[in-house]
Amino acid sequence: MKKFLLNKIQNIAPDRVLLNEPMSKHTTFGIGGPAACFIYPEREHLKQLLKIADNHSIPIFFMGSGSNLLVSDEGFDGIVVSFSKSLKKLVFRKGNCFTCESGVMLGHLVKEVSKRDISGMEGLVGVPGTLGGALVMNAGAYGKEISNLFESATVLTLQGDEKNYNKNEINFSYRYSTFPKDEILIEADFKGNKGNSENIKLEKLDASKKRKSSQPLKFRSAGSIFKNPSDLMAAGYLIDKTNLKSEKSGDAEISKKHANWIINKGGARASDVVKLIKLARFKVMNQFNIELQLEIKLLGFDDKTIEELSGNNIV
Ligand SMILES: Cc1cc2nc3c(=O)[nH]c(=O)nc-3n(C[C@H](O)[C@H](O)[C@H](O)COP(=O)(O)OP(=O)(O)OC[C@H]3O[C@@H](n4cnc5c(N)ncnc54)[C@H](O)[C@@H]3O)c2cc1C
Repeated sequence: MKKFLLNKIQNIAPDRVLLNEPMSKHTTFGIGGPAACFIYPEREHLKQLLKIADNHSIPIFFMGSGSNLLVSDEGFDGIVVSFSKSLKKLVFRKGNCFTCESGVMLGHLVKEVSKRDISGMEGLVGVPGTLGGALVMNAGAYGKEISNLFESATVLTLQGDEKNYNKNEINFSYRYSTFPKDEILIEADFKGNKGNSENIKLEKLDASKKRKSSQPLKFRSAGSIFKNPSDLMAAGYLIDKTNLKSEKSGDAEISKKHANWIINKGGARASDVVKLIKLARFKVMNQFNIELQLEIKLLGFDDKTIEELSGNNIV
């Protein structure tokens, strides 16, 4: 990216902009080359930032805390906007309703919601990430999805215009929402149900136990790599049946604890993860005639690699 553009962006919020910033520092995988410009904006910085990006056709990517993201080793020659350190407002209202800004961490949200005996989010305990990432991805676990409580959302378009969507205007399905890809989620309203504090506690405990017993949480990862092909057919089961557990490329490994997880055992590169993703897709297709679809999102890859990793399901 040209220096004068970087300077322009730095002027918006000098202490919130990092240049040539390794994305490995901002993904739970601990993988990824540099972003030309990485920024943690407050709400008031966004319109100015979007204007510069729009006027100069600079590629821009919005992320939460990078827990569902694989960034290429080459990085991203554009602006990465992260909401992991801003947009932290969470306001509770009457009737089990609350408004949550995009940068609120899901763990904090689940804790605060549970404290007020509001049910509906128990299964999400232990899911990393921000509210923004969770809602766009329709994060879920153990029978609970964040969209179950969704009422409405405020977004910004790339031209800086604010828009609202109510729940009838957004469709959610398994790890998917119809929020337009070129809009930034700023905040959302939710309505939960009054729950029983003992049941909420037990459900959270149960979800935590299941997570600890089935997931390789000691290693860096991005959680599940592929979506399950159906409710009855887990991607991890299919990969396991192709004998790929413990398969390695460099420091990346298909986990022996959960075959749908690729773990970083230290210095894994994105190219290592890409090799394992391709291998798993190839073997599952060969053995079961099923095309695995990526759950994780990709940043900084060329079109050919994206197509090879995603098949018909370009993410
Ligand atoms: C150990 C581990 C366990 C996990 N377990 C689960 C699980 O049980 N269930 C589950 O569903 N997921 C799970 N995940 C995946 C991940 O935690 C979720 O998808 C999470 O909701 C992603 O949030 P994030 O803020 O990190 O998003 P990011 O990874 O930063 O981004 C994900 C996507 O959301 C978009 N996005 C983020 N914020 C915004 C915004 N404000 N506006 C517009 N777009 C935005 C990004 O562009 C990207 O496409 C797990 C991951 C890990 C590492």
